[in-house]
Amino acid sequence: METISKPPLIWINIIIFSFSLGLATIVAPLYGWQFGYGMAHWLWLVICFSFCNLSITAGYHRLWSHKAYEAHWTLRLLFALGGAFALQNSALHWSSDHRVHHKHVDNNDKDPYSAKRGFWFSHIGWMLRHYNKTTYDDYSNCRDLQKDKIVMWQHKYYVPLALAINLGVPLLLGFIYHDILGMLLIVGALRLVLNHHTTFFINSLAHIWGSQPYTDKNTARDNGILAFFTFGEGYHNYHHVFENDYRNGIYWWQYDPTKWLIKLCAWLGLAHKLRVSPPFRVEKAKALMALSHAQKQIAALPNQQLVMASIQREFDTLVIQLQEYYELKKQLIESKKSTMIRRYEHSLLVLRYLQVKHQLALQKSNWQLIVRQYS
Ligand SMILES: [Zn+2]
Ligand SMILES: [Zn+2]
Repeated sequence: METISKPPLIWINIIIFSFSLGLATIVAPLYGWQFGYGMAHWLWLVICFSFCNLSITAGYHRLWSHKAYEAHWTLRLLFALGGAFALQNSALHWSSDHRVHHKHVDNNDKDPYSAKRGFWFSHIGWMLRHYNKTTYDDYSNCRDLQKDKIVMWQHKYYVPLALAINLGVPLLLGFIYHDILGMLLIVGALRLVLNHHTTFFINSLAHIWGSQPYTDKNTARDNGILAFFTFGEGYHNYHHVFENDYRNGIYWWQYDPTKWLIKLCAWLGLAHKLRVSPPFRVEKAKALMALSHAQKQIAALPNQQLVMASIQREFDTLVIQLQEYYELKKQLIESKKSTMIRRYEHSLLVLRYLQVKHQLALQKSNWQLIVRQYS
């Protein structure tokens, strides 16, 4: 007989989640069928949905949880308001949970939304019961955030703020467009449900579905489709290795609107000290994963020792060349800044840099060929 009793339910969360879901999926379509919705409803849905989600991804997540950059107080105030609008608890509480998640990822006893406890638990189940009652108010891992006046102000007035924004914005829009109920259903309920579940996907689906190019030591995955719905947070495998990087999708073609927003804010002078992981470490992590993947395939081959030795050689060469390339790149940037360096010394550096760059490109394509062969 199972005797372990489950922790008590958190009724307020259960009511919020199910009530908003009911309004969004049953009442909103019925209301629309009867009275119809205009362009304004959909436009404001997109605006408010984006505002809330970006406040979570750029604010709660990359700014406050990970200190991936520093932000002007106006931006922090906007994120604090958007976070309350997204109804995901205070930035302090959210960040504290999230830092524990990174520190103890997949540890069923410590990770508050451990993906190893299944989809339901990591998606929403963890918020429906008092699983961590004793540590609920423990914000000792966020002492830095306790110095941020906006964070503490939002934490103190979270409930009235969340209520005022969640009711005030749809009511105001309803008043302007003469459809209070319609706006409450679309910008209030439907927007909230979309906000909630797209964010929750990062804890559930982004730990289940996708590729693992940087590490297989935890369940986090990279997934371009999820990135589309989560404002770039779908590149979660990268994020769990390089958590302080202001980007989650590091390549220009990877869909990461949160990264673009932060970059835009930096241009506007609202964000600074954007943190980027050293490219050598990133490329090495990626090559190491490809190597370990290939080694598993090779282990089944009859001539495995020979192949294993040759792939290891290629990997070592790649790493040496990567290191040399990024070291030269750094020197080149420094030499450009320095007026002391003589012209011909700079030219020699450029020449060496171009040579290594070319060698590295060859070695990279060589490496890709080998790795693909054993994937
Ligand atoms: Zn995660
Ligand atoms: Zn994170």
